Amino acid sequence: YNYTKKDILNMAEEEDVGFIRLQFTDIYGTMKNMAVTMNQLKKALDNKCMFDGSSIEGFSRTEESDMYLYPDLDTFAIFPWRPQQGKVARFICDVRRPDGTPYESDPRYVLKKVVREAAEMGYTMNAGPECEFFLFHTNDDGLPTTITHEQGSYFDVGPLDFGENARRDMVLTLEDMGFEIETSHHEIAPAQHEIDFRYDEALATADNIMTFKMVVKTIAKRHGLHATFMPKPKIEVNGSGMHINLSLAKDGKNIFQDSTDQNGLSREAYYFMGGLMKHMKAITCITNPTVNSYKRFVPGYEAPVYMTWSAKTREPLIRIPSMRGDGTRIELRSPDPSANPYLALAVLLAAGMDGIKNEIMPPESVDADVQSMTDEEKKRLNIEALPKNLMEAVSELEKDTFIQDVLGADLTAKLIETHKNEYHEYCMQVTEWEINNYLHKL
Ligand code: ADP
Ligand code: MG
Ligand code: MG
Ligand code: MG
Ligand code: MG
Repeated sequence: YNYTKKDILNMAEEEDVGFIRLQFTDIYGTMKNMAVTMNQLKKALDNKCMFDGSSIEGFSRTEESDMYLYPDLDTFAIFPWRPQQGKVARFICDVRRPDGTPYESDPRYVLKKVVREAAEMGYTMNAGPECEFFLFHTNDDGLPTTITHEQGSYFDVGPLDFGENARRDMVLTLEDMGFEIETSHHEIAPAQHEIDFRYDEALATADNIMTFKMVVKTIAKRHGLHATFMPKPKIEVNGSGMHINLSLAKDGKNIFQDSTDQNGLSREAYYFMGGLMKHMKAITCITNPTVNSYKRFVPGYEAPVYMTWSAKTREPLIRIPSMRGDGTRIELRSPDPSANPYLALAVLLAAGMDGIKNEIMPPESVDADVQSMTDEEKKRLNIEALPKNLMEAVSELEKDTFIQDVLGADLTAKLIETHKNEYHEYCMQVTEWEINNYLHKL
């Protein structure tokens, strides 16, 4: 759409909107919002709603704490699950300073900046995520557990499969909000699900991922379940990934395809991959930003471990799906749903563009099973592993000045500091595993 303020005022009136949520995303990927009533809508549309940025973790320093929310009119949407009289609508907002300049550490700004740079070169990136999640039971106090009724536990007794009903309700709600749902299915692990919506341009997709997570969590709760996007909630089963499918368009045409190439890929597609591979280790700090993210990168659970690409196998870091024509794309399989989607798409697009500008070819594809190779073979083929933990990923970000520039100095410094703190805190824990393995024999 291309809504004007007047369109919005009319729509809000017609739809009997009572409350407006002004949403934005903090640097850790958490959605924040403030609500205003209908009689403040005009003020909100005039970009006059403000908040104290210094109380948002990771946002501004105290000397510049007043932040203004600039609603993106095209993100106007009504929450179908809220009362139908005095409806709740939302905008996704940009964050700006009192003088109207964009706040550089607003993740949405970071992505917009990269999108604009790509557009100046004539490119538009399309992105389609595959977001996985678990639906777990809550306990008597309403707190989340990792228990699922699909394990034949006490909770299984009920006659209804709440997992399936909840997923159906999520799909219908998302469709109500304008999503085009392509598929939804139960994933491999008990209680694990995936809902795929149609790809869109990078900014719209990042907005959609934020909305998607909110809807999934909200609808799960209404079914008495807890939806979690934690990457690896259970050791013995697959973790939740968020594969990201990417392609570039020029003048509305997918330019990743080239039928004369043996893989059906254009030079741009190879260069884009080359750029991704070049910056992948630092990118991992953004696409996999939690301690828990790295518990997913282990052999045997479908997640990538090594940095390879292939048009033949299903489990490399970058897979080329067999679809050609307009569906020609590359699929990055490392990201997980704990990533901030704005920052993730920003660094992916920027890295891909770096590949195109500097004509970076990716290494040879690897179609063999890397996990069964010896260390010498891997070394000979130049196959490296993804960072093994959050600290390794942080160190890679500290080395990659290109990715740092994409994020901006302030944001980079904040991310590095919080990730290091998180990792240190994690390392100090004495875990159940240690107690089980050491207490009786040492
Ligand atoms: P998989 O085969 O890996 O399970 P899915 O079918 O679950 O893949 O998801 C494919 C995703 O890729 C969807 O979000 C889809 O909209 C998206 N997609 C399809 N074509 C393109 C394209 N040209 N560019 C970017 N994403 C695309
Ligand atoms: Mg899928
Ligand atoms: Mg599929
Ligand atoms: Mg899947
Ligand atoms: Mg996939």
